[in-house]
Amino acid sequence: MKLSDEEYSLRKPHCLECGKEMVYGRPDRKFCSSRCKNKFHNHTGQAPRLTKLRVQHTLDRNYKILNTFLAAGLTSVPIATLVVMGFNPMYSTCVIHSGRTHTYMCFDIKYSMSCARVYQMEVTSELPK
Ligand SMILES: [Zn+2]
Repeated sequence: MKLSDEEYSLRKPHCLECGKEMVYGRPDRKFCSSRCKNKFHNHTGQAPRLTKLRVQHTLDRNYKILNTFLAAGLTSVPIATLVVMGFNPMYSTCVIHSGRTHTYMCFDIKYSMSCARVYQMEVTSELPK
């Protein structure tokens, strides 16, 4: 079977990064150069890295906000107040289930949460294992 020029061209390997046709090298090559290979792998690793940074940033902000109230001697704060300051109640570093109660942790700050308040806030040295 004879291939048309277009079909033949589609079968030639093309660089996954720049799309350039690769006229030499192994037929299963994916990249035209090490520069394109590095560029490709840099973007593919970027999404998980950005997700980790976003989560870390949210946890850091939550910690700073809780710590502000603890430093002022408060151990119970309305969630609405915390949310206005940027606290995200969906993020914690740990949730401890004990019967029907849940205790949350943001690094070394331990707290309980109802639908209206964060309460029983305290700094603990007992981190879950
Ligand atoms: Zn390339």
